[in-house]
Amino acid sequence: MTGGAAGRTAAVRARVPVRLGRAGGRSCELVTFRGLPDDGEHLACLVPPWDTPAPLVRLHSECLTGDVLGSARCDCGPQLEEALGMLAGQGGVLLYLRQEGRGIGLYNKLDAYLLQDGDTDTFEANRLLGRGADERDYGAAAVMLRTLGLRRVRLLTNNPDKEAQLLRHGVEVAECVPTGVHMTPGNAAYLEAKARSGHRLGDAGVRGACAGGVAVPANGRGGAV
Ligand SMILES: [Zn+2]
Repeated sequence: MTGGAAGRTAAVRARVPVRLGRAGGRSCELVTFRGLPDDGEHLACLVPPWDTPAPLVRLHSECLTGDVLGSARCDCGPQLEEALGMLAGQGGVLLYLRQEGRGIGLYNKLDAYLLQDGDTDTFEANRLLGRGADERDYGAAAVMLRTLGLRRVRLLTNNPDKEAQLLRHGVEVAECVPTGVHMTPGNAAYLEAKARSGHRLGDAGVRGACAGGVAVPANGRGGAV
């Protein structure tokens, strides 16, 4: 199985059976690739049944502090847990994308934390570091899906940019399945910043809308990045 992108041909490198406790103890497969457009060590986690006409797919960007250490500054850990729980129930694919800090890296992300205060949110902090507000590119994710033979998915996300980028890279999004809003006192400001950037969050967003659905910012500041 292959999927071309930018003149390169991607292919599966290895399919590794593994039982995942956080996916309900299900027998899954971890898939590695060669020839991805950004050469990242991105990982696909296949939870059976995943080879269906429009499987549930979650694009999860790596967040060491949230996913591994349980940091309360963001909602990445609960979102990962939620995704794996849903995949355990109905099957599908988790793409674990090595895009720490919205693509700026772990150390830069921690530098950005130091810049964040009441007026400087996660996106503005990235800009102050001379980086893009969100540098994530989902082209590699689309290539991974196509290499797995998946061209139509149900996308678990509140982020319209993921949907738009998948569409641009040849993967049809049959439905956007909204994720829960995991708000705590520690991450409320972070989630409000995500809403300002265009994420569909809770009652402020458009649940289930995609393919032209309009994101509704939580307030008047800013728009989709
Ligand atoms: Zn995070």
